[in-house]
Order: sequence, then C-alpha cells, then structure tokens
Amino acid sequence: MPAPDHRAPPSIPYPPADAPLVPARMVNEYVYCPRLAYLEWVQSEWADSADTVEGRHAHRRVNRDGGSLPAPSRGDGASRLHARSITLSSRRLGLIARPDLIESDGGRVTPVDYKRGKRPHVERGAHDPERVQLCVQGLLLREHGYDCTDGVLYFVGSRERVRVVFDDDLVAATHEAVDGLRRAATEGVIPPPLEDSPKCPRCSLVGICLPDEVNRLTRTTTAPRPIAVPCTEALPLYVQARHAKVAKSGETLVVTIDDMRC
Ligand code: SF4
Repeated sequence: MPAPDHRAPPSIPYPPADAPLVPARMVNEYVYCPRLAYLEWVQSEWADSADTVEGRHAHRRVNRDGGSLPAPSRGDGASRLHARSITLSSRRLGLIARPDLIESDGGRVTPVDYKRGKRPHVERGAHDPERVQLCVQGLLLREHGYDCTDGVLYFVGSRERVRVVFDDDLVAATHEAVDGLRRAATEGVIPPPLEDSPKCPRCSLVGICLPDEVNRLTRTTTAPRPIAVPCTEALPLYVQARHAKVAKSGETLVVTIDDMRC
C-alpha cells in the first residue's frame, strides 16, 4: 500500500529556486538564538567549545554512512532497516538535513537524532531547538514520499530515547523558524543579542558575539559579565618544551618529552 501523502505546504512564499537550502542544524540554532544562527550560517563564524567537541564525540559512530532506505512505494513492512547519515534535501521546502539514523519498520520511517548529555526533564520531553531540528528531518522524509509521523531524540548521556510527534503545532513552529532565518539572511540584518541570558556564557560564539558589550553600547545599562572559563577549578597548562606530547590516559593528563614521562 503506498504511504499516505503527508507533505506539508512549505513556508509562504516558496523560497526562490536559487535560495540556499537551510540546514536543519541552523533551524535548531535559530530557535535557540536567532543571532547565533545568523553568525554561523550567514557570516560563517565558528568557534569550538567543550560542548561542541563533546557533541562531535557523541556523533562519531553515526557519522559513518551505512544502510539504505527502501523506496517509499516499498512500504510493505517486510523488514526493519537502519540507514545512517543519509542526506535529504528539497528545493520546494528549501531545506537540507542529514539525520543521524533513519529507522524503517512496517512501512513507516522514523528519523533518530543523537544528542550529547542526558534527557532533559521538561514538559515536552526535549527542548524546542532539538524538536524543531528533528521536525525538519521529518518534513523532508514526508516530502520524499515517506510515511513519517514522529521522530526520536536519543540522549547519549542517559541512553534514553524521547519520542517527538510531528503534530500541527510543531510543524507550524518549524516553518516559522525556517521563515525567520531565511528572512534575516535575506535582509542582511544581524538579530540583536539576547539580554542577560543564561545561554550566553555557554555559547561557543560568546567571544565573537559579545552580547553584553553590544547590549551595553546599544540599549541597556547593565554592566557586561566577564567572559570566564566556566569551570573555576580548571587551570591552564603550559607546555613549552620541544618535542613534548600531551595525552590523556583515563582521567590523567600525561606529558612526555622525548618519550620520558613528566
Ligand atoms: S552569545 Fe548569546 S546572544 Fe550571542 S549568539 Fe550566543 S546565545 Fe546568542
């Protein structure tokens, strides 16, 4: 039996044919902070933080290509399949995504997105940026003719799966975020920084964005918070010897100089 046509109308108006495809991850960033998405997507700014490095580590297994999806018309439920890191895109929707995993069972497909850390105990099971990113993947699967009604966020830290239903509210919020990011990019006006937000000290681009400093100069009188190393017990280690190597053995930092341990 062919999969039902769940294709949602794209955001209004249709994106122009030559408009760059909006990556699902940038829609996540836009919901987290519009300025962050603008800095990364429009201005190509990037900076690593402990969180981004940890995130890459959590994805190291699923980033390998593997498996393939059955054609939508072959939704006969005969087999259970896993396909890793398949790129999906749509000119009509103006979107592109690379789900970590796509599970197929009984003719229905489910995108699975890996997240570092533990499952948050929040009302909807996950935060809106992650839910919207997953919904972009679901919309793309529907656009390609698959029956896709929900997705899964897999939290590596607690090894828990959280089901996210692609209901009308989430689909509308996703289209709204895509429109907002596309509009900001087209207008070329960077969104203002968040004000006194707890998100900023954890943001990898805080040193580029300078939220408190920009706000101080443009609209508020609040003094800027110092940009500090989040872990107050951590101290920098300087290794200046020639041929020195720094490695980690379990929880121990090992420095060797010409193969002699220090
Ligand atoms: S530092 Fe704050 S305002 Fe700036 S991009 Fe990051 S989250 Fe957004």
